[in-house]
This record gives sequence, structure tokens and C-alpha cells, in this order.
Amino acid sequence: MHSHFIAFNWKMNAKKEEAMDLLKYVASLERNENEVLIIPPFVYLEMALHLLPRSILLGAQDVSSKKEGAYTGEISAAMLKSMGVRYVLVGHSERRKYFLENEEILIEKIERLHENGISPIFCVGESLQLRKSGEYLDFLKDQVLKVLPSLKKKPFVLAYEPIWSIGSSNAARVEDIKEVSSFLRGILKKEEVIGNSILYGGSVNSSCANDIISSGVDGVLVGGASLKKEELSSLMLV
Ligand code: PEP
Repeated sequence: MHSHFIAFNWKMNAKKEEAMDLLKYVASLERNENEVLIIPPFVYLEMALHLLPRSILLGAQDVSSKKEGAYTGEISAAMLKSMGVRYVLVGHSERRKYFLENEEILIEKIERLHENGISPIFCVGESLQLRKSGEYLDFLKDQVLKVLPSLKKKPFVLAYEPIWSIGSSNAARVEDIKEVSSFLRGILKKEEVIGNSILYGGSVNSSCANDIISSGVDGVLVGGASLKKEELSSLMLV
């Protein structure tokens, strides 16, 4: 069995005590050779750094597109690096939708991360409307190609996260994930980008994770189920 990449995005959830409890629980769990990445809110990174063993990787949900200075409320890539962060989500559909992050901003964020040796987990995904129109592959290709010149300069992970599936309890079908992941792999290969992990995200839980992983992705990006102990314990071992 080869190892998988399992990323847990807590989003804007958990108060301090809950976060501490979850982190202690994760630290106590049995692990196999999977690469496990915990992506808590910024305010819990320090706690995670202290409570998690080094074998569990630390991620962040966002990063500033600016380097440093008078940008109140922002968190820089250099700060994240100093907290031991190894991966950062970029282009998540919630950031594109609620914070109007466009490609220009996403490229700046990717560059800031690369300057600091942090790998972006670049998220792409189509809306339900696009899926129904049948034009989703063209759309996904466009999302990837717009940032690829920056992305491919250093290590990165690509995550396919169909918007219609996120938070819906309705994971994409294995055949759909297979189609998109091999399509994305084809784009990367054509651009001479080889060896990068491709993840699937969208309502992943312990009952569908194994099937999804056997569809040809290298791992999963988990949102809602990241906050449930029984889910965490099984998902870490898929
Ligand atoms: C996500 O937001 O990255 C995600 C995959 O969420 P969920 O698992 O809750 O669908």
C-alpha cells in the first residue's frame, strides 16, 4: 500500500477548548505512513505546533498576498513559515466567493508562499451550473493554466474541489473524480509538471474516502468531517 495525503481543513470552526481537545486527540491517534496535514484557524497554529507530533504536518487556510508591513489583520507567509507551516490553501472556493479572490491575488499568494518554502495547495472546482452544462473540463483547465506559470516554479499540490459537493454531504462519484483527476494530470504532464499530488475534496468522510482514493487521487482534503473525532481517527488511516 502506498501512502496518501490526508488534509483536514477546520475552516472557521472550534473555540479554544474544542481546538485543544481535538489537537490532543489527533496527537493520540494511531497512524500509518499517510502524510497527515492539520489546517486549523491561524489562532490555533501555536497550540497545534506544541501539541502535535512533528510527523503531523501543519497547514494554514490563507496567507497574505503582501510581504510585510502596514496591512492590518493580514498574516504573512514568513510568519507562517516561522510557525512551522508547510502547506497553505490557495484558491479555495470559499475565498474566491466570499472574499472575491481573483487570479491576480492568487498568483501573488503563491509567490509569497514559494519565497518562503511553503507549498500551496491550489484548489480548483466547478459550480453545479458548469457541471450541468458539460463545460466543466474547459473551466478547470482554465483555472489551472491561469496560475500554472507561477505554481510550477516550486512544489505544489492540486486539489479538485467541486463547489457543488463542498459541505453538501454529497461527494462526487468515483467515476467523476477519476475523469477530472486524470484530466488534470494530463494538463500537468503536457506542461512538463510531474510528480505533484492531486487531491479530491468535497464531502469526504470515512465511508467514501477509500473508494475516492482508489479512483486515482493521491489523497483527500476534508472539511466538515475534520471536526468529528470518530471521522478523524478513521480518515487518518485510509
Ligand atoms: C473543503 O472546504 O475544502 C471541503 C472539502 O469541505 P467539506 O469536506 O465539508 O465538503
